[in-house]
Amino acid sequence: MDFSLSEEHQMIQQAARDFAQNELLPEVIERDDAQRFPTEQIKKLGELGFMGMMVGTEYNGSGMDTLSYVIAMEELSKIDASASVVVSVNNSLVCYGLETYGTEAQKQKYLTRLASGEIIGAFCLSEPEAGSDATSQKTTAIDKGDHYILNGTKNWITNGSSAEVYLVIAQTDREKGHRGINALIVEKGMPGFEIGPKENKLGIRGSDTHSLNFNDVEVPKENRIGEDGFGFKFAMKTLAGGRIGIAAQALGIAAGAYELALKYSKERKAFGTEISNHQAIAFKLADMHTQIEAARHMVYKAAWDKDNGHNYDLSGAMAKLYASQVAMETTVEAVQIHGGNGFVKDYHVERLMRDAKITQIYEGTSEIQKIVISRSVLKD
Ligand SMILES: Cc1cc2nc3c(=O)[nH]c(=O)nc-3n(C[C@H](O)[C@H](O)[C@H](O)COP(=O)(O)OP(=O)(O)OC[C@H]3O[C@@H](n4cnc5c(N)ncnc54)[C@H](O)[C@@H]3O)c2cc1C
Repeated sequence: MDFSLSEEHQMIQQAARDFAQNELLPEVIERDDAQRFPTEQIKKLGELGFMGMMVGTEYNGSGMDTLSYVIAMEELSKIDASASVVVSVNNSLVCYGLETYGTEAQKQKYLTRLASGEIIGAFCLSEPEAGSDATSQKTTAIDKGDHYILNGTKNWITNGSSAEVYLVIAQTDREKGHRGINALIVEKGMPGFEIGPKENKLGIRGSDTHSLNFNDVEVPKENRIGEDGFGFKFAMKTLAGGRIGIAAQALGIAAGAYELALKYSKERKAFGTEISNHQAIAFKLADMHTQIEAARHMVYKAAWDKDNGHNYDLSGAMAKLYASQVAMETTVEAVQIHGGNGFVKDYHVERLMRDAKITQIYEGTSEIQKIVISRSVLKD
């Protein structure tokens, strides 16, 4: 076993770290406050190859492995989880889904532009009445021969207004249950496709989350991903990889808060000494460091499983469950170590604490991860 990062992985880490410091940090508080999407930053991330990291170079991707992707996600998320969720959805849901299951024509038409960062994509599974219970799809895609007619509403869609391409899951044949679901590629501007108002969120406020309405949208059949009825499996397979990205996001949020708390604890004085000299604070830092290191090993292991062709359903679910818990606990402690300063925006940790919460909710809540994990454990 070798726990050291290769030279290439170290270079990616440094590049992502530099980008986060130089491009994301300067206005991160203002974007969070104003709920402003990081348009310029995402464009630059595309130019640097971060929007299609795992996509083959023949489709304008960077041809890197999953480990590179999680390393980059950690670094970006230390500073700005609103930007990193855009990176995550585009890479591990949209690009991965299209590259793995799309037709050559779909890859040429959509993936090449998504992987280069020229456009970004969205992944549309959740509905007002279908979140954890994703089989209860109410959105319908009725087969009309050479096209589908799409009707329904999707909720909570990341990149909701900034995407150009939307992978939409919808029910074609209700009698077939989850085997009657399809995944369709929908373009912004298709007649009948409307973007709802932006959600006013607790965290990741720089990302744009919207509901989407489909009113008799005509989607050509060549825009279906995979065979008829493959849509639910497509969503589950894609989300299994997506969870590794969100686990890395959670890890980054935790590590970012920890780094700030560590620095602050060596500067802030109380009772005549730096607060890090009070064991209560030093022990908090010890716990945070230990938990973050454990989470990092789990995230890297899940990425390694994916890169080496192993099943990553279990390792990805465990990594997400644990890293998101660590993100929540660590950010709360980081605020505590900052005292009153932790409660105001300038010190960043309150934002990281707000951002951490979403990692326990999207791409499968912690309870759903426990269902995945317990099923896997009990089946043996
Ligand atoms: C900011 C944000 C961005 C998002 N981005 C996207 C996106 O891009 N695309 C997309 O498709 N979706 C997206 N989502 C939706 C997200 O994936 C869902 O919110 C999530 O899956 C939970 O679904 P729900 O909100 O309907 O909660 P529910 O499913 O109603 O769950 C409510 C509670 O019940 C628990 N619960 C439900 N079922 C069980 C069970 N069987 N056993 C135990 N506990 C259970 C849940 O864990 C949760 O605690 C986003 C959500 C948010 C908030």
